[in-house]
Amino acid sequence: PEFPPLLAVEGVKVSYGAIQALRGVTLTVGKGEVVALIGANGAGKTSTLRAVSGMLKPVGGRISFSGEDITGRKAHQLVPKGMAHAPEGRGIFPNLTVLENLELGAYLRNDADGIAADMEKSYVLFPRLKDRRKQLAGTLSGGEQQMLAIARALLSRPTLLLLDEPSLGLAPQVTETIFRNLRDVNAAGVSILLVEQNAHLALNFAHYGYVLETGEVVMAGAGRALLDSPEIRKAYLGE
Ligand code: ATP
Repeated sequence: PEFPPLLAVEGVKVSYGAIQALRGVTLTVGKGEVVALIGANGAGKTSTLRAVSGMLKPVGGRISFSGEDITGRKAHQLVPKGMAHAPEGRGIFPNLTVLENLELGAYLRNDADGIAADMEKSYVLFPRLKDRRKQLAGTLSGGEQQMLAIARALLSRPTLLLLDEPSLGLAPQVTETIFRNLRDVNAAGVSILLVEQNAHLALNFAHYGYVLETGEVVMAGAGRALLDSPEIRKAYLGE
């Protein structure tokens, strides 16, 4: 394969009480790979990310990361292993400054020099955040908050970045800037598992894509191949 294995999700099931949100999801993300998860509202995209990052516990299946079984591990145990999650709704702290939010992204690290260097890197990636570093995060625009959520996730030095709907509510130009920067993040060696409503955007960006329907993977393939698929074009690209 083009990418050596990094994350393997095998038959993962998630339930919220009586609601079975994931009915056995299987997918992989390789080292250096960008993988997109697309699907309609309620298909289980967010639940998949939350199961991977340890925010919720699967009721079945297995997840391995960097060759280690991590099924049922909690998020705080996975961050030091190289997993970072920029959640749906961004999860930033509105009453803290931009700088304080970024510092929280590095809370499990104690290499002050490395943190300072990575902080500079996030300002190179998103110069807007440097201008706004003393401003309360809650006063940022939607696009700036998304940039902050991504930069904060990167401050834990992840090998795998989980991104939930980075384009949500953003103007096309802002979305474009964010995806251009994500391309650089990936080029620097960070693997990305991306959840997106915007299938066109996601499949153009990703090496590989999975289509979720009612908690199951119903189709998978190279991003390009899915973009060209008549079924995908009809169901997800509005053609
Ligand atoms: P969206 O694009 O709308 O965010 P999604 O593909 O991310 O959708 P999930 O959020 O994973 O889908 O939801 C999958 C299913 O689980 C849905 O039917 C949803 O209603 C249900 N669900 C999600 N979170 C909860 C919860 N906390 N309690 C009960 N049901 C939930």
